[in-house]
Amino acid sequence: MINRGFLTRPELVNAAVAQYDFLALSQDRFGEYAEKDVNQLLSKHQRVTRAIIEQVMELAAEREGVMIFAATVDHAREIAGYLPEHQTALITGATDLNDRALLIQRFKQRQLKYLVNVSVLTTGFDAPLVDFIAILRPTQSVSLYQQIVGRGLRLDEGKQDCLVIDYAGNHVNLHHPEVGEPKPNSDSEPVQVFCPGCGFANIFWGKTDSDGRVVEHYGRRCQGLLEPAEESGAEAESERPEQCDYRFRFKECPHCGGENDIAARKCHQCQQAIIDPDDQLKDALKLKDAMVIRCAGITLSAFNSNSDGKLKITYHGEDGEELSESFDFSKPAQRHVFNKLFGRRFANSQAPKVFSSADEVLEIQALLPAPDFVIARNQKHYWQVQERIFDYQGNYRKAY
Ligand SMILES: [Zn+2]
Ligand SMILES: [Zn+2]
Repeated sequence: MINRGFLTRPELVNAAVAQYDFLALSQDRFGEYAEKDVNQLLSKHQRVTRAIIEQVMELAAEREGVMIFAATVDHAREIAGYLPEHQTALITGATDLNDRALLIQRFKQRQLKYLVNVSVLTTGFDAPLVDFIAILRPTQSVSLYQQIVGRGLRLDEGKQDCLVIDYAGNHVNLHHPEVGEPKPNSDSEPVQVFCPGCGFANIFWGKTDSDGRVVEHYGRRCQGLLEPAEESGAEAESERPEQCDYRFRFKECPHCGGENDIAARKCHQCQQAIIDPDDQLKDALKLKDAMVIRCAGITLSAFNSNSDGKLKITYHGEDGEELSESFDFSKPAQRHVFNKLFGRRFANSQAPKVFSSADEVLEIQALLPAPDFVIARNQKHYWQVQERIFDYQGNYRKAY
């Protein structure tokens, strides 16, 4: 279902002619502006709007489909008024659903060139022909910004890139994917990671191989916005879209199994405390009968030739220590534990899998995740693995 092809390159251009200064307005607690204030500011800047639209039309000469994101309904009307009438569609929250569908269809058939809208088309709208996006609305939300830009990143025949111009001075850098997150290391680059949950194309820091495939990324949670439920009709327009809850890195709650951000102290589902991995490590390091390794990698082998097979995982510490454990795939409980730990995080959590046999795992073992730390307890004759800490973030150094 999810298209794994490469998306079109976004080409971000700084607004050349003019920009609005939305930063002068005060924000509510969501970092958004009151419509009244925005309208007031925009009404003083009609010349700016006109100049921007003139530039948009000039640049649009070489473009197929242009989406313009306006700040308010009045603003959208003003913008549409500057554009050639027979080539322009205006879609607001008040546009009847049938009219909306018709306008979008005509846009997709290239009968219309400009689609002016007020954030109503940020989700659930897909028109690969969009190759120019003009942002004339303020947004402090990276998620919404990615959502807007995402409209133009779909591949289409003959499409080279998508021009993105931000006239609203949002200062959201498209090439600095998670604002506030410093670049994790010098060879990181922005990569596109599709959400297995909602299909949204996230832009995260990460690494690619020579073929451009994402081999690693540092994203935590999907930035996609989910459309509010359809049936609530007109009311839904005012509802804040919810962020997709799919997590690429997470801590599992030991009480309810809920998936939480790696920095969470309390489970968002059951509100109980989540053990801090640093405490877990500190406690284990104090114990004489415990062994803690910094895991530098894992190796797998299958043994026992029953139908589903047993899988042995060996964890390699950076100093050559080893710990191992095995999972019997003929036993549902063990299969379940393996899939929760490893299957769920398959391919950097980009393609979670439920494995049913050891052989199946061995075939694609290169994409299995390795934990950062493994804790085992001495059981007389062997070391029994007790904890595998994935997605570790804390005070201890990880394996080199
Ligand atoms: Zn998602
Ligand atoms: Zn919980």
